[in-house]
Amino acid sequence: MFHTETKGELARMMPESECCVLSELSAIARSCGRVEIRQKDGGSDSVFEIRTESAASARKIMAHVRSVFKFKPKVRFTHRRGRRSRNQYTVELPYNTETLEVLQELGVVSQKKDGVTLRNGVPWHLLTRQCCLRTYLRGVFLARGYVQNPEKEYHMEFMTDSLDHAKGIVRVAESFNVTPKIVERKKRYMVYVKGGDDVAQLLRVMGAHSAVLTLESVRVLRGVRGDVNRVVNCETANVTKAVDAGLAQVEAIQKINEVIGLRSLAPGLQEIAELRLANPEMTLRELGQMLSPPISKSAVNHRMRRLIHLAKRLNGKAG
Ligand SMILES: [Zn+2]
Repeated sequence: MFHTETKGELARMMPESECCVLSELSAIARSCGRVEIRQKDGGSDSVFEIRTESAASARKIMAHVRSVFKFKPKVRFTHRRGRRSRNQYTVELPYNTETLEVLQELGVVSQKKDGVTLRNGVPWHLLTRQCCLRTYLRGVFLARGYVQNPEKEYHMEFMTDSLDHAKGIVRVAESFNVTPKIVERKKRYMVYVKGGDDVAQLLRVMGAHSAVLTLESVRVLRGVRGDVNRVVNCETANVTKAVDAGLAQVEAIQKINEVIGLRSLAPGLQEIAELRLANPEMTLRELGQMLSPPISKSAVNHRMRRLIHLAKRLNGKAG
């Protein structure tokens, strides 16, 4: 699976600088994090959860949390059965003042009068370097992204629940010369690109080099196949045209034979008419070469037109 392999490649790739750890964690936590309030006896307990279906992504999230928050987070694993069975890894952060502060600095949440909510836009203060723009995009893709198998279609998307966030993702991509589109789907926003060049460029930006190689080789094969198909279609069209023309000539000659008989034709016409009746599939050139002395393709064509013209006149009289 191209999608799974691409995500695996990107999940295993660890940022080289501290700045990129922050931007990648910010993107992942913003895209698939949420505050979960749990009722406990005598009160409630809140955690900030980051969920993912991929073990490699879970390992990455844990490593980032350890390096940014300086503690080892708890991880829960659940396996959901059903038609679409899936694994889920939930990384839990205790939801206290310190966590909240760091999440705010990371641009994941913002504190408002009515409480804490996930932040709407992209945290530009973390994205001042190009390396961080790349890792931010990678984080959003790992969290809520999808790439279609290039053998089917060139398509890559990033989902988000905020229009501002979607617009921010578009601007991040634009800094790498790709302009994605946004479409609303049931109060969620899909940022997407179509076209081999754009998909390849975004894969390159995120650092999915094996995925780029796979996509490029598919593109080459598709290109070659496209060329072959065009040639075959073109030849088929010519053959079909020749066969149709041959059949029309045969019909005309049969008509002449019915009405006035081929013997009443001039010798040159009679000769080619009999030859055509016997060889409906032959090309004009081949028919010409069977005569003695042989005549050219255009000379055969000229005689055929006279036959068809005569048949039309006979048809007119008969009708
Ligand atoms: Zn960076």
